[in-house]
Amino acid sequence: MPLPVRRLSASVRVGHVTVGGTAPIVVQSMTNTDTADVTATVAQVKELARAGSELVRVTVNEKAAAAAVPRIREQLDRQGLAVPLVGDFHFNGHKLLAEEPACAEALAKLRINPGNVGRGSKRDPQFAEMIEIACRHGKAVRIGVNWGSLDQDLLTRLMDENSRRTAPWDAMDVVREATVISALEGAARAEALGLGHDRIILSAKVSGVQDLVSIYRKLAARCDYPLHLGLTEAGMGSKGIVASTAAMAVLLQEGIGDTVRMSLTPDPGGDRTREVIVAQELLQTMGLRAFTPMVIACPGCGRTTSTTFQELAQQIQSHIRARMPDWKRAHAGVEDMTVAVMGCVVNGPGESKHANIGISLPGTGERPVAPVYEDGEKTVTLKGERIAEEFQDLVEAYVARHYARRETQP
Ligand code: SF4
Repeated sequence: MPLPVRRLSASVRVGHVTVGGTAPIVVQSMTNTDTADVTATVAQVKELARAGSELVRVTVNEKAAAAAVPRIREQLDRQGLAVPLVGDFHFNGHKLLAEEPACAEALAKLRINPGNVGRGSKRDPQFAEMIEIACRHGKAVRIGVNWGSLDQDLLTRLMDENSRRTAPWDAMDVVREATVISALEGAARAEALGLGHDRIILSAKVSGVQDLVSIYRKLAARCDYPLHLGLTEAGMGSKGIVASTAAMAVLLQEGIGDTVRMSLTPDPGGDRTREVIVAQELLQTMGLRAFTPMVIACPGCGRTTSTTFQELAQQIQSHIRARMPDWKRAHAGVEDMTVAVMGCVVNGPGESKHANIGISLPGTGERPVAPVYEDGEKTVTLKGERIAEEFQDLVEAYVARHYARRETQP
């Protein structure tokens, strides 16, 4: 099955990362620490970048946060972490950036929400101030509309125009159109103020799957700015993942989307890096990018009455994730590897043969042995208490043998 053809967009440099054009779809994330807490924010940016986030956004909501940004950048640089930082501004961004020029300098991109930039007569000059600062520092800008904070003046204008139509649109259609227009007019204003066309990324986030699909189709048809995809307020747990995936998969399959963010609400005390892993898994399972070897595991059924097979699948998945940063540096192409962990003889040998390396565990009533297949051939049969450790060693050996060593870090 051929891969979807990406819509051709302008390409925008965000620090050393390219978004749009022919660049791979970029995975990004956002911290949830208090940005003024430099230590906590550096630690979380580090975790997110290590998990594979290629851009990390931080909230810049007050003077202390703006003052902390250059110190965060400095500490990351000192630790050899070049991940570009994006500043998220609302209401007072113009003021913070003017008072803390080092903040603008330390950021690779500014996120500006046209609906939260200021009201009435203040809106245009405050927006202009932020764009001028972006121009002065040579930074990219995301015009990031969110329909929870849609520009009310614009919405009123479009509602008025709609009421004069002979066949008025449904009110929700007007809201969707206002979301698109807000992004496009924001970009046009930014360009009129001197920001380069190749410095602008657009997003128009909503929380409904069908609304997101409809809005991004309109945006994609009406401009060539790179598009940042994300379902806002996607929610917690499986609901957040399913809703984001449902919306983004449709758009990605149509070639729409140059950078993605999964806005997942973590469980209390949960791991923020989950949003990065889910975004990578979305792109990888669609065949759009490869980040880490894929583990193919069957769901298990009445033939697997013990938890051995689930434990092995989980152990292998965790091992691969933990080893990936080192493998990536040393072994070119390892991210394309597939590893099968199967529960019984029904599909086990077949699926294992399709993978680079696979193991078929014994189901209930089967002989307590686990054949291992490499590149379609049975190589060894494992048995006993140490099947998991031995299979892990075989995966390590497979990686070392099959993926060329890289001598220098890319
Ligand atoms: S491979 Fe075996 S254990 Fe796994 S789902 Fe199929 S029948 Fe069940």
